[in-house]
Formats: sequence, C-alpha cells, structure tokens
Amino acid sequence: MITVKGKTMEEWIREFPDLGPVLNYTPFYWSNPYVEDNKTAFENQPLHLEDIQEAEERLKRFAPFISKAYPETENAGGIIESPLKKADQIKNRLETITGQKIPGMFYIKLDSHLPISGSIKARGGIYEVLKYAETLLREHQLLSEKDDYSKIVEDTYRKFLSQYTILVGSTGNLGLSIGVISAKLGFRVIVHMSADAKQWKKDLLRERGVQVVEHRSDYSKAVEEGRKEAANDPKSYFVDDENSKDLFLGYAVAAIRLKKQLEEQNIQVSPEKPLHVYLPCGVGGGPGGVAFGLKVIFGDTVKCYFAEPTHSPCMLIGMMTGMHDEISVNDFGLDNQTAADGLAVGRASGFVGKVMEPLLEGIYTVSDEQMFRLIAEVADAEGIHLEPSAVTGFMGPSYVVQNNPKITEEDTHIIWATGGSMVPDEMKEAEYQKGLQYKTNPGGK
Ligand SMILES: *Cc1c(COP(=O)(O)O)cnc(C)c1O
Repeated sequence: MITVKGKTMEEWIREFPDLGPVLNYTPFYWSNPYVEDNKTAFENQPLHLEDIQEAEERLKRFAPFISKAYPETENAGGIIESPLKKADQIKNRLETITGQKIPGMFYIKLDSHLPISGSIKARGGIYEVLKYAETLLREHQLLSEKDDYSKIVEDTYRKFLSQYTILVGSTGNLGLSIGVISAKLGFRVIVHMSADAKQWKKDLLRERGVQVVEHRSDYSKAVEEGRKEAANDPKSYFVDDENSKDLFLGYAVAAIRLKKQLEEQNIQVSPEKPLHVYLPCGVGGGPGGVAFGLKVIFGDTVKCYFAEPTHSPCMLIGMMTGMHDEISVNDFGLDNQTAADGLAVGRASGFVGKVMEPLLEGIYTVSDEQMFRLIAEVADAEGIHLEPSAVTGFMGPSYVVQNNPKITEEDTHIIWATGGSMVPDEMKEAEYQKGLQYKTNPGGK
C-alpha cells in the first residue's frame, strides 16, 4: 500500500478532505485556513521592508549599467519594469465563460513583457546575479557604491568576472534570465535544464555562450545537479531557486514599483477598496516574493492568491498539510506533467511556503485545457500572447468572488501575467491555435 510519511491516502484525505479533488486533478479553490491578520503574520518574518528597499537601491545603482547593456531599457532609465494594463475585454469574457460576475476593476500586470528575458524571472534572477557581481567587484576594489555602474560594460570588468562561474537549475525561464544577464556581465554560466525546458530557450542560451546541461528528469533534479557542481568550486556561485533570499527580494521589489503605478493610474487601495492579486506559482519564489512585498507595503488591504497547474500543485499540497518541502506531488501519485513549463515543479520551496502560510488567502489549480483556452481568450480580447504558465492567474477572480460575498465594484483585481513575449512566433501561433479549439468547442478535446 502506498503511504506518505507513514499515512495512507485514505488517512490523508480524512485529515484534509480538500486533498480529494486535488489528487484527482480536478481544478479546485483552496481557502487558506492559516491566514492571519498582517500584524500577527509579521511578528516572526525573516525579511522586512528595509531588505526590500535595499534591493531596490541596488537595482537603482545598476540602472546605468542596465541602460547601457540593454538599449531597450534606455527609455525607462535602466529600470526593468512592466506595464499595468486595464483589461475590461478579458474580464467580460471571463464572466461569460464562468457565468460568474466579477465586481471590481480588472488589470493585467505584464511581466510577460519585462525587458531582457520576457518573464517574471527578470526580477529575481537578474537581481541576484547583479548582487553577486557587485559583491565580487567591491571585494576586489574594482567598484565603489558611488561609482557610475555603467563602466561595468567595459572589458576589464568582464574579464575579471569571467574567472567566476554561475550555476542554476531551471525549468527554463530562470535559466534564461540568469544565463542572459550572467553572460552579459562576462561570467561563465552553466544552466541545468529539466526535461520540461523548451528547446528555444536552450538554443537562445547557447547562442549567447551559455553552457546548457540537459537532464531527462524534472526540475528538482536539475537544481540538485547545479548545487552539487557549485559546491566543489570556490569560484562557483549557485543560484538556489528553492532557498535564495536574494531571488526572493528581487521579486519583492515589484511591490514598490506597483505602488507607484497604482498611484500614477489613480487606483486607490484602502480597507474599503482592497486589492486582489493573482500569481502563478512554481517553486514559490516569484509569486512569494511579489506577494510578500505587497503584504509589507499594503498590509491587510491586499489579498494574494497563488495559481498552480492541476498536475503540479506542490505549494497547495505542502501548505495544506503543513509538510511544505517534505513532500512532493509525486509522493501523492500526481505526475507533474503540464504544458505550463514554468510551473512544472513537484516540490515547493520550504522557505517560501512557511513565509507565505500566514500571508496567503488561497491557492487554486488550473487544468492544461483551461490554460490553452485562456491563451486564445487573452490573445483575442487583449491582443497579447501569454505562455501557458502565465495565464493561470485569470481563473482566480471568479473563485474569489464565489468565496467572498464582500467583494464590490470598489475592489481591484490584478492578474500577474508572468511570461510569454519572447516565445518564438511559430510557437505562439501553435499555442493560440490549440487554445482556439477549446475556445470554440469548450467540451471537446
Ligand atoms: C517561474 C515562473 C513562475 C513561477 O515562479 P516560481 O518562482 O517558480 O514560483 C510563473 N510564471 C512563469 C512564466 C515562470 O517562468
């Protein structure tokens, strides 16, 4: 008989009845019973506002470098940021599809269109590599905080940094972000890719001089290989997607930026006008970092929700059972097979799970069929292409409205669209065509 941590499936489901539908791959909304008011939730947190501000300051120091190294960021002064787009058309479509009215204003946060790597990973991944470069250059008296960091594009610095190796394990997008920025700085880079990783991401990295190691196994294994390789070499640095506080803080800076965008667009947030934010979740660092930052800045007036594939609900299972990274979806017989490559993670970050446990309102799961349909719906309604991982947020508002009668026209919903602009055109078209079939024939295959 299959047991997990000494309990049979029947025992697990008796203790946590919500596991039932989750273990059947049924799309499901889980309301987090462990959520606390902000004051209580922040009594014991390992990171604070000052940490996020420090990360924001570091990104400002690097802005002259980013602006010079990536001319597409020049207009934004070297700040890597994405637009916040009002999205009434897709809101109308979602109301029609789900039969659920969604009171409130509706926006998409377009991290899919972040410069440099076209996904949310351009926040955490790039930040961590920049911080490591800064640390090395300062340790060797090649840089001081007051310098104009644009000089880092020069060969002297690239040559110095080329003695060091950056390693990372990834399902694709993290490798893409880390690989691209590391190669730009002159680092040697080795990216361990899981079997889910898309060929075009590997090709693009190799073009930029990144060493890509392909694994036939899943994400956790790719991470383990990267970690092992780095452990043997003092000039190697491993970006640890499962535990890194720097990655997390890089993501959290999004909250400071979003606050400014909300003010610029005159979107008010208050106890009477709460903000609901829907974030796709893989290992947890990206959505966790953003949500953590939002809770630090907006407190109880922001409500955060994670979205996961029905085939990879690692954060949901970990948080629900309190077992976090001690269990994986495979332990429970789920296959971790999904078109949402960015979310194809079987075991959540224990660090993020524990941080988010008192801060998160809920987690819901989305099927691959729903993702493809949403790709077509979003493309038709809003004229933007998102990858499968990135559309999972859109299923959230109707669940949240069903579970919360207090939501009114004063509320604001923000769907965090986490990736897709860099997907090659022919793949965009194939994903769209597949989605169109579900859109025009919702019951069929
Ligand atoms: C990585 C990724 C996520 C989730 O981030 P995690 O840190 O893995 O939870 C969401 N969407 C896309 C497109 C991603 O690449």
